[in-house]
Amino acid sequence: MDLEADIVVIGGGMAGLVAGIRATEEGMKTVLLRKGQSATAYSSGAIDIIGYLPGGTVPLGSPVEGLQGIASMFPFHPYGLLGFTDATSDTVSKTIVEKVRTAVSWLKATLLGSSIPLFGDIDSNLDAVTVLGTVKPTCMIQETMWPGSLMLDADSVALFAGVRGFPVFNPRMAAQVFLEHQISNRLPPRKAGHHVLDLAPFGNNYNISSIEIARYLDNEDNLSVLAKTLKKQAERIGATHIALPPVLGFNRARENQLALQDLTGAHVFELLSFPPSVPGLRLQRGLETAFVNGGGTLLVGHHAKMESLESNIVKEVTAVGPRRNLKISTKAVVLATGKFIGGGITGTENGIRESVFDLMTVSESFRIATSITPQKLTNTIALTHMGHPLFGSGLSVDPQFRPITAEEVHAAENLYAAGSVLAGYNYPAEKSGLGVAIVTGYMASRNAVDYVKGVSA
Ligand SMILES: Cc1cc2nc3c(=O)[nH]c(=O)nc-3n(C[C@H](O)[C@H](O)[C@H](O)COP(=O)(O)OP(=O)(O)OC[C@H]3O[C@@H](n4cnc5c(N)ncnc54)[C@H](O)[C@@H]3O)c2cc1C
Repeated sequence: MDLEADIVVIGGGMAGLVAGIRATEEGMKTVLLRKGQSATAYSSGAIDIIGYLPGGTVPLGSPVEGLQGIASMFPFHPYGLLGFTDATSDTVSKTIVEKVRTAVSWLKATLLGSSIPLFGDIDSNLDAVTVLGTVKPTCMIQETMWPGSLMLDADSVALFAGVRGFPVFNPRMAAQVFLEHQISNRLPPRKAGHHVLDLAPFGNNYNISSIEIARYLDNEDNLSVLAKTLKKQAERIGATHIALPPVLGFNRARENQLALQDLTGAHVFELLSFPPSVPGLRLQRGLETAFVNGGGTLLVGHHAKMESLESNIVKEVTAVGPRRNLKISTKAVVLATGKFIGGGITGTENGIRESVFDLMTVSESFRIATSITPQKLTNTIALTHMGHPLFGSGLSVDPQFRPITAEEVHAAENLYAAGSVLAGYNYPAEKSGLGVAIVTGYMASRNAVDYVKGVSA
């Protein structure tokens, strides 16, 4: 055997990293395999817990309200499964809320001393501003993305500052869309301006990516050039708040935000953006650092080989790397391979398959999906409040988060699943993506740890 582990985590997005960090905290020898990039790194970096009830059109005021709705109406939703241990509907709802609160508070505490401290909690959704100038309700954001009192203070004035040659963000359009939205909702600010900065990171002033700008701003000297221009422009319109695309750096984003605030006298914040997303990559890196610092073994560029589940217990995982294959013995496995972007679930003309153990997949309505073609689960209209049912497909699990078979028994007693590989929730429609990944990663890890402690006792 090349490596020995108590727990192998397959998948290195939010769900896998949460599971891995928790397992190392519990003293487990943990090996985590990440074959490639994750949806987590592509995400805006804003953490949605639950923004809409499944099928709902009215945004929820708070995640707690959404969790209570799920408790009473959607017991097979991944959040609903958290309540399966209690009898009365009142305690079910409290149990679910408390389990989500525990996982979310733990994540906040874990990232507190890092370069990406989080802001927000499950008692209320908060409004983040996007590069389009729209307002997106979400649960938690990195401190650098918090717009402060911009939408509360009657005297606030916003400056939207873009970068010449960075095509993703048009500050003029964003300022206009944002201001129109706020005025039509009778909310501050009443005034917004815009400016285009001439940064030319690394000598380039066309087709610049957010990643290039972020790397450039990781250098303190470059930041002070930016600060001088921003200060001048903020003074020109009396801006109290400065909105930048999410490019404040990879390693020093929070320090850069505080330094810019000091130098300009305005509240500086990052807008939410599309992939490639610097805040999403920061989240990925921050969690990987926490895992490795906690003693976990991270194998990037290694994928778990397709294994057939012949017995009721997984004793070994093969990690296929660029130059070598490693056999890893293990006492439990957490499968957190994501959906179509991560590659945990694949859809072909033959049906919807799970990619490591060929586990049974189900559709959003829990019909066996191993022979349903993906086209059957998409709508003709690309964007509706219902989303595409395809996103609700994946693994069906028991309340311990163990994948189940067509005979309704667990596929293996020591195999747990977490994150978007799971069925029964539609994250783009509900706005629950990273939230479900955090909470199920936390719970699947806890169950795997209990299992390992049980067999080792
Ligand atoms: C463009 C975009 C924007 C989004 N924006 C938001 C947002 O603003 N807020 C929000 O809450 N959610 C958002 N989401 C949803 C959210 O990103 C996902 O729901 C969440 O990241 C899923 O996490 P995960 O850990 O389950 O899967 P992933 O993050 O996809 O991770 C899966 C991991 O498994 C690895 N893997 C797969 N197969 C194997 C194998 N055989 N061996 C080893 N490793 C393997 C992959 O390489 C990857 O590292 C967004 C998603 C996308 C695509």
